[in-house]
Amino acid sequence: MVNADGVRFCDEGADFRNYTYAKYGRLILEQPHQFAWQIFDQQTVHLQRDEYRIRQVTKVTADTIEQLADKMAEYAAVDKPQFLDTVRAFNKAVQKEVPYNPTVKDGRGTVGIAPPKTNWAMAIEQPPFEAYCTTCGVTFTFGGLCIDTDGRVLDTAQKPIPGLYAAGELVGGLFYFNYPGGTGLVSGSVFGKIAGTSAGAAVLER
Ligand SMILES: Cc1cc2nc3c(=O)[nH]c(=O)nc-3n(C[C@H](O)[C@H](O)[C@H](O)COP(=O)(O)OP(=O)(O)OC[C@H]3O[C@@H](n4cnc5c(N)ncnc54)[C@H](O)[C@@H]3O)c2cc1C
Repeated sequence: MVNADGVRFCDEGADFRNYTYAKYGRLILEQPHQFAWQIFDQQTVHLQRDEYRIRQVTKVTADTIEQLADKMAEYAAVDKPQFLDTVRAFNKAVQKEVPYNPTVKDGRGTVGIAPPKTNWAMAIEQPPFEAYCTTCGVTFTFGGLCIDTDGRVLDTAQKPIPGLYAAGELVGGLFYFNYPGGTGLVSGSVFGKIAGTSAGAAVLER
């Protein structure tokens, strides 16, 4: 993954997608012009998620990395000489002796480049090459209402506000800096049941 300067800016193989997609959105937002291109070759395109094949994606393909850079420039230009250097250096740095295994953190990383890619490193070498333009979207804001263990909303003095219960996306304090995929709905279900049960009990007590 490269930014507008044609350089890599994160460890693309730090963890499985569910553990990186939220925080890497923020990282992309911090890049110049707030975009990044993801580059694939034919060794890995078959592993892409279905969302790479929807009509709305911004995708270019080419038989050489040079041509790929030119096509990328039609949408969001990267520094071409630097991009070519980045790909060359990345390809040289891949630990090809370590077996590639996309089902586990395989430790097939890079050596001698910064930042390193620590798993699933594959040289970009088998055309046609594909590049996908990405940016950051808002899934949620990481903020929200403070609740107690009964789902009651707390005021700024940490005291329950009578009759007010909360669950789901508007609850804060669960996630900081990152978010593991799937936990939004789990949080909604768990705290929804707790808040609903508490609210029902409060009504019966009246
Ligand atoms: C792009 C994206 C992908 C996601 N992917 C996943 C995933 O794969 N797995 C996962 O577990 N979670 C995922 N989430 C998170 C998950 O969707 C949310 O945690 C969940 O939908 C929150 O449900 P909710 O009912 O709390 O809030 P919401 O679904 O936001 O519902 C709130 C509702 O309140 C309405 N509303 C707002 N203000 C008012 C008002 N004043 N009066 C009346 N109605 C109002 C809104 O219109 C909305 O319908 C994703 C979220 C996004 C944005």
